[in-house]
Amino acid sequence: MKQKETSLNTPSEERDDYADGHPFSSFDTPLRPDAFEQDDELKIEMISKHFREIMQILGLDLTDDSLAGTPNRVAKMYVQEVFSGLNPENKPEVTLFENKYKYDQMLVEKDITFYSHCEHHFVPIYGKAHVAYFPNGKVIGLSKINRIVQYYAKRPQVQERLTVQIGKELKKILHTEHIAVVLDASHMCVSSRGVNDTNSTTGTAFFNGKFLDQNFKNEFLNYINSDTKLR
Ligand SMILES: [Zn+2]
Repeated sequence: MKQKETSLNTPSEERDDYADGHPFSSFDTPLRPDAFEQDDELKIEMISKHFREIMQILGLDLTDDSLAGTPNRVAKMYVQEVFSGLNPENKPEVTLFENKYKYDQMLVEKDITFYSHCEHHFVPIYGKAHVAYFPNGKVIGLSKINRIVQYYAKRPQVQERLTVQIGKELKKILHTEHIAVVLDASHMCVSSRGVNDTNSTTGTAFFNGKFLDQNFKNEFLNYINSDTKLR
Protein backbone atom coordinates (compact mmCIF):
# COMPACT_ATOMS: atom_id res chain seq x y z
CA MET A 1 0.00 0.00 0.00
CA LYS A 2 1.32 3.42 -0.87
CA GLN A 3 2.10 6.14 1.61
CA LYS A 4 -1.08 7.85 2.65
CA GLU A 5 -2.23 10.97 4.34
CA THR A 6 -5.78 9.90 4.65
CA SER A 7 -8.04 11.76 6.98
CA LEU A 8 -11.28 9.94 7.36
CA ASN A 9 -14.28 12.19 7.22
CA THR A 10 -17.46 10.63 8.47
CA PRO A 11 -20.37 12.53 7.03
CA SER A 12 -23.73 11.96 8.61
CA GLU A 13 -26.50 12.00 6.05
CA GLU A 14 -27.52 15.46 7.13
CA ARG A 15 -24.09 16.93 6.94
CA ASP A 16 -23.22 18.59 3.68
CA ASP A 17 -21.35 21.64 4.82
CA TYR A 18 -17.79 20.49 4.38
CA ALA A 19 -16.27 19.78 1.05
CA ASP A 20 -12.82 21.23 1.23
CA GLY A 21 -13.20 23.92 -1.37
CA HIS A 22 -15.31 21.57 -3.45
CA PRO A 23 -18.81 22.75 -2.68
CA PHE A 24 -21.74 20.50 -3.39
CA SER A 25 -25.34 20.94 -2.60
CA SER A 26 -27.07 17.60 -2.30
CA PHE A 27 -26.59 13.85 -1.99
CA ASP A 28 -28.61 13.45 -5.17
CA THR A 29 -26.80 14.17 -8.41
CA PRO A 30 -28.17 17.51 -9.62
CA LEU A 31 -29.94 16.42 -12.81
CA ARG A 32 -32.54 18.38 -14.74
CA PRO A 33 -35.97 16.80 -15.25
CA ASP A 34 -35.38 16.75 -19.00
CA ALA A 35 -32.00 15.00 -18.63
CA PHE A 36 -32.93 12.01 -20.79
CA GLU A 37 -35.23 13.54 -23.37
CA GLN A 38 -32.42 13.31 -25.90
CA ASP A 39 -31.25 9.81 -26.69
CA ASP A 40 -27.62 8.74 -26.46
CA GLU A 41 -27.06 9.02 -30.19
CA LEU A 42 -28.13 12.67 -30.26
CA LYS A 43 -26.10 13.44 -27.14
CA ILE A 44 -22.97 12.00 -28.74
CA GLU A 45 -23.54 14.04 -31.88
CA MET A 46 -24.00 17.28 -29.93
CA ILE A 47 -21.15 16.77 -27.47
CA SER A 48 -18.89 15.92 -30.39
CA LYS A 49 -19.82 19.20 -32.08
CA HIS A 50 -19.13 21.23 -28.93
CA PHE A 51 -15.92 19.42 -28.09
CA ARG A 52 -14.67 20.12 -31.61
CA GLU A 53 -15.41 23.78 -30.88
CA ILE A 54 -13.33 23.68 -27.67
CA MET A 55 -10.41 22.11 -29.53
CA GLN A 56 -10.70 24.69 -32.25
CA ILE A 57 -10.65 27.55 -29.74
CA LEU A 58 -7.53 26.03 -28.22
CA GLY A 59 -5.99 26.40 -31.66
CA LEU A 60 -5.71 22.71 -32.50
CA ASP A 61 -5.68 21.66 -36.15
CA LEU A 62 -8.56 19.25 -36.52
CA THR A 63 -7.49 18.22 -39.99
CA ASP A 64 -4.54 16.44 -38.37
CA ASP A 65 -5.05 12.66 -38.54
CA SER A 66 -4.37 12.23 -34.87
CA LEU A 67 -6.96 14.81 -33.78
CA ALA A 68 -9.69 14.37 -36.36
CA GLY A 69 -11.52 11.63 -34.48
CA THR A 70 -11.10 13.08 -31.00
CA PRO A 71 -14.39 15.01 -30.67
CA ASN A 72 -16.42 11.91 -31.49
CA ARG A 73 -14.21 9.72 -29.32
CA VAL A 74 -14.65 12.00 -26.32
CA ALA A 75 -18.40 12.29 -26.87
CA LYS A 76 -18.82 8.50 -27.00
CA MET A 77 -16.64 8.05 -23.93
CA TYR A 78 -18.72 10.57 -21.96
CA VAL A 79 -22.11 9.16 -22.88
CA GLN A 80 -21.43 5.44 -23.13
CA GLU A 81 -18.68 4.98 -20.57
CA VAL A 82 -17.50 7.46 -17.96
CA PHE A 83 -20.87 9.21 -17.43
CA SER A 84 -23.15 6.29 -18.25
CA GLY A 85 -24.15 6.10 -14.58
CA LEU A 86 -26.21 9.27 -14.96
CA ASN A 87 -28.88 7.31 -16.77
CA PRO A 88 -31.11 5.22 -14.46
CA GLU A 89 -31.55 2.77 -17.34
CA ASN A 90 -27.96 1.69 -16.74
CA LYS A 91 -28.51 0.89 -13.10
CA PRO A 92 -27.45 -2.73 -12.44
CA GLU A 93 -30.19 -5.27 -11.84
CA VAL A 94 -29.69 -6.84 -8.48
CA THR A 95 -30.60 -10.38 -7.54
CA LEU A 96 -30.77 -11.29 -3.90
CA PHE A 97 -30.13 -14.78 -2.62
CA GLU A 98 -31.71 -16.46 0.33
CA ASN A 99 -29.24 -16.32 3.20
CA LYS A 100 -29.55 -20.04 3.74
CA TYR A 101 -26.49 -20.42 5.92
CA LYS A 102 -28.07 -17.94 8.31
CA TYR A 103 -24.83 -16.01 8.21
CA ASP A 104 -25.50 -12.96 10.34
CA GLN A 105 -22.01 -11.60 10.89
CA MET A 106 -20.32 -8.72 9.19
CA LEU A 107 -19.71 -9.27 5.49
CA VAL A 108 -16.93 -7.19 3.98
CA GLU A 109 -16.07 -6.54 0.35
CA LYS A 110 -12.82 -4.60 0.19
CA ASP A 111 -10.57 -3.06 -2.47
CA ILE A 112 -13.21 -2.45 -5.11
CA THR A 113 -11.40 -0.34 -7.70
CA PHE A 114 -13.42 2.55 -9.06
CA TYR A 115 -12.92 5.40 -11.52
CA SER A 116 -14.99 8.52 -11.33
CA HIS A 117 -14.73 12.16 -12.40
CA CYS A 118 -14.61 15.28 -10.26
CA GLU A 119 -17.63 17.37 -11.17
CA HIS A 120 -15.71 20.59 -10.63
CA HIS A 121 -12.90 19.91 -13.08
CA PHE A 122 -14.03 16.86 -15.10
CA VAL A 123 -10.79 15.01 -14.38
CA PRO A 124 -10.52 11.55 -12.82
CA ILE A 125 -11.00 10.58 -9.20
CA TYR A 126 -9.89 6.99 -8.70
CA GLY A 127 -9.42 4.72 -5.76
CA LYS A 128 -10.77 1.86 -3.71
CA ALA A 129 -14.14 1.33 -2.15
CA HIS A 130 -14.67 -0.89 0.88
CA VAL A 131 -18.16 -2.00 1.78
CA ALA A 132 -19.59 -3.96 4.70
CA TYR A 133 -23.03 -5.02 5.85
CA PHE A 134 -24.81 -7.33 8.21
CA PRO A 135 -27.10 -9.56 6.12
CA ASN A 136 -30.78 -9.40 6.87
CA GLY A 137 -32.34 -12.57 5.47
CA LYS A 138 -30.99 -11.96 1.97
CA VAL A 139 -27.49 -11.61 0.56
CA ILE A 140 -26.31 -10.06 -2.66
CA GLY A 141 -23.86 -11.51 -5.19
CA LEU A 142 -20.49 -9.94 -4.45
CA SER A 143 -20.00 -8.76 -8.02
CA LYS A 144 -23.21 -6.74 -7.67
CA ILE A 145 -21.62 -4.60 -4.99
CA ASN A 146 -18.87 -3.83 -7.51
CA ARG A 147 -21.46 -2.95 -10.12
CA ILE A 148 -23.30 -0.59 -7.80
CA VAL A 149 -20.04 1.16 -6.93
CA GLN A 150 -19.21 1.49 -10.67
CA TYR A 151 -22.69 2.75 -11.53
CA TYR A 152 -22.52 5.68 -9.11
CA ALA A 153 -18.86 6.31 -9.93
CA LYS A 154 -19.71 6.80 -13.60
CA ARG A 155 -21.05 10.28 -13.04
CA PRO A 156 -19.52 13.66 -12.49
CA GLN A 157 -19.08 13.36 -8.73
CA VAL A 158 -17.80 14.65 -5.46
CA GLN A 159 -16.37 11.88 -3.32
CA GLU A 160 -18.66 12.61 -0.37
CA ARG A 161 -21.75 12.26 -2.52
CA LEU A 162 -20.49 9.11 -4.20
CA THR A 163 -19.93 7.54 -0.77
CA VAL A 164 -23.43 8.38 0.45
CA GLN A 165 -25.10 7.32 -2.81
CA ILE A 166 -23.48 3.88 -2.59
CA GLY A 167 -24.42 3.57 1.08
CA LYS A 168 -28.05 4.56 0.56
CA GLU A 169 -28.47 2.28 -2.42
CA LEU A 170 -27.09 -0.70 -0.49
CA LYS A 171 -29.41 0.08 2.42
CA LYS A 172 -32.34 -0.01 0.05
CA ILE A 173 -31.33 -3.13 -1.86
CA LEU A 174 -30.25 -5.18 1.14
CA HIS A 175 -33.12 -4.10 3.38
CA THR A 176 -30.76 -3.38 6.22
CA GLU A 177 -29.66 -0.34 8.17
CA HIS A 178 -26.29 -1.90 8.89
CA ILE A 179 -24.12 -0.57 6.09
CA ALA A 180 -20.59 0.81 6.02
CA VAL A 181 -18.87 2.32 3.00
CA VAL A 182 -15.34 3.73 2.97
CA LEU A 183 -13.77 5.33 -0.09
CA ASP A 184 -10.09 6.07 -0.37
CA ALA A 185 -9.33 8.04 -3.51
CA SER A 186 -6.86 10.17 -5.43
CA HIS A 187 -8.11 13.29 -7.15
CA MET A 188 -6.37 14.27 -10.36
CA CYS A 189 -7.58 17.83 -9.90
CA VAL A 190 -5.32 17.91 -6.84
CA SER A 191 -2.41 15.84 -8.18
CA SER A 192 -2.07 16.98 -11.79
CA ARG A 193 -2.86 20.67 -11.40
CA GLY A 194 -3.56 23.20 -8.67
CA VAL A 195 -1.35 22.33 -5.71
CA ASN A 196 0.22 19.40 -7.64
CA ASP A 197 0.11 17.21 -4.58
CA THR A 198 0.68 13.69 -5.85
CA ASN A 199 0.71 11.80 -2.56
CA SER A 200 -2.45 12.69 -0.73
CA THR A 201 -5.57 10.61 -0.79
CA THR A 202 -8.99 11.50 0.49
CA GLY A 203 -11.02 9.24 2.75
CA THR A 204 -14.78 9.42 3.13
CA ALA A 205 -17.13 7.15 5.02
CA PHE A 206 -20.79 6.30 5.43
CA PHE A 207 -21.64 4.45 8.62
CA ASN A 208 -25.15 3.42 9.44
CA GLY A 209 -26.93 1.14 11.91
CA LYS A 210 -24.58 -1.15 13.84
CA PHE A 211 -21.59 0.54 12.24
CA LEU A 212 -22.23 3.61 14.36
CA ASP A 213 -21.11 1.40 17.24
CA GLN A 214 -17.39 1.98 17.73
CA ASN A 215 -16.64 -1.75 18.09
CA PHE A 216 -18.18 -2.74 14.77
CA LYS A 217 -16.75 0.31 13.09
CA ASN A 218 -13.28 -0.62 14.34
CA GLU A 219 -13.68 -4.26 13.30
CA PHE A 220 -14.46 -3.10 9.77
CA LEU A 221 -11.70 -0.47 9.65
CA ASN A 222 -9.14 -2.91 11.05
CA TYR A 223 -10.11 -5.42 8.43
CA ILE A 224 -9.81 -3.02 5.51
CA ASN A 225 -6.51 -1.70 6.83
CA SER A 226 -5.05 -5.19 7.21
CA ASP A 227 -3.55 -7.11 4.34
CA THR A 228 -5.79 -10.07 4.97
CA LYS A 229 -7.25 -11.63 1.88
CA LEU A 230 -9.93 -13.97 3.07
CA ARG A 231 -11.59 -14.42 -0.28
ZN1 LIG B 1 -11.87 18.86 -8.66
